[in-house]
Amino acid sequence: MVKETAFYDILGVKANATPDELKRAYRKLALKYHPDKNPAEGEKFKQISQAYEVLSDAKKRDIYDRGGEKAIKEGGGGGGGGGSFASPMDIFDLFFGGGSRMHRERKGKNIVHQISVTLDDLYNGATRKLSVQKNTICERCEGRGSRKGAAQMCMTCHGTGMQVRVHQLLLGMVQQVSTVCHSCQGQGQRISQKDRCKACAGRKILRQKKILEVHIDKGMKDGQKILFQGEGDQEPGLEPGDIIIVLDQQEHPQFTRRGEDLTMSMELQLVEALCGFQKPVQTLDKRTLLITSHPGELIKPGDTKCVCNEGMPMHRRPFEKGKLIIHFSVVFPKANFLPKNKLKELERYLPVKEDAEQPESMDDDLYIYADLEDCDVENRKRQRHQHYYVDEDDYASSGGVQCQTS
Ligand SMILES: [Zn+2]
Ligand SMILES: [Zn+2]
Repeated sequence: MVKETAFYDILGVKANATPDELKRAYRKLALKYHPDKNPAEGEKFKQISQAYEVLSDAKKRDIYDRGGEKAIKEGGGGGGGGGSFASPMDIFDLFFGGGSRMHRERKGKNIVHQISVTLDDLYNGATRKLSVQKNTICERCEGRGSRKGAAQMCMTCHGTGMQVRVHQLLLGMVQQVSTVCHSCQGQGQRISQKDRCKACAGRKILRQKKILEVHIDKGMKDGQKILFQGEGDQEPGLEPGDIIIVLDQQEHPQFTRRGEDLTMSMELQLVEALCGFQKPVQTLDKRTLLITSHPGELIKPGDTKCVCNEGMPMHRRPFEKGKLIIHFSVVFPKANFLPKNKLKELERYLPVKEDAEQPESMDDDLYIYADLEDCDVENRKRQRHQHYYVDEDDYASSGGVQCQTS
């Protein structure tokens, strides 16, 4: 049976993605396609949310991995309705780990924005001005949408703004689904054309632009949220929602952040690795560190060293910093960098060869001299590929003459 991966494909991750990778992928996509930002992509947003809902739950993911979407629909999905989020609009759940749904319904919608920041911003702190569109209550009619007393109750929903539909499920089970009343768009009342407020055309709310000043503190992290309480959408009779800013850190060409530490790689010449070195590194606040090896110390390819207190500043404790971790690589000199007669001289300074035992006399019966050749791995792969298509027997017989790498 072919394993189904559609949910993974929707999120753009591999089928062996870790929960963290899934969450990260979902967060990026959900923000990109969130209806606040991208009203035309509602369907896509729903798909993304459904895929994540299944894959983020270890039990459901297991069911999906074994039986695909069909298995999920056939009731492996856990039911109960308690754990998973009920609607794809509940991006709030993802960021703040749930909370009472009743509580949220008494609040206007949250607005989620992602802002792109550099590692420099997170190191030094920064301020960004952000323009957001939000719903505000119309001042002219004070959110009534009409002259005082001109509104009448909607007869479709009896003023509740909601309609309840009943779905018949298997085995006589029913599911109640509440939807927004389509006659009054959830307003619970109707206003005749002539009584409508001219400023908001009876909608009670206006779309307005607001400039937010976002303070990015030193040491904040990729994915961190900055909350502007009560700055979200206003709706008559509801507590206003929040604006949530999510930081999205761009990759830095030199440094990679790991928690409070920064990592970088440094390339050394052979002479530097053996005899010592000093190399400048520009920090994220534009100081120059002179990375200096101890005299007599030797750096081997793949060595890792660190400089204390030159990593990222801690959030809210910016004078404490993590480590700067340096991964070293060593570049060897080119072939024939030294005339042959000087090699003996160089050898004198290097540690004695471990098995310095040399044949006393050339004895052809005892020694077979084997020349080392360049082993072109790439070329070998290509040849193997061609042979594979031409003739499998041919490939098998040619395998022996290729240079072996393992
Ligand atoms: Zn109005
Ligand atoms: Zn209604």
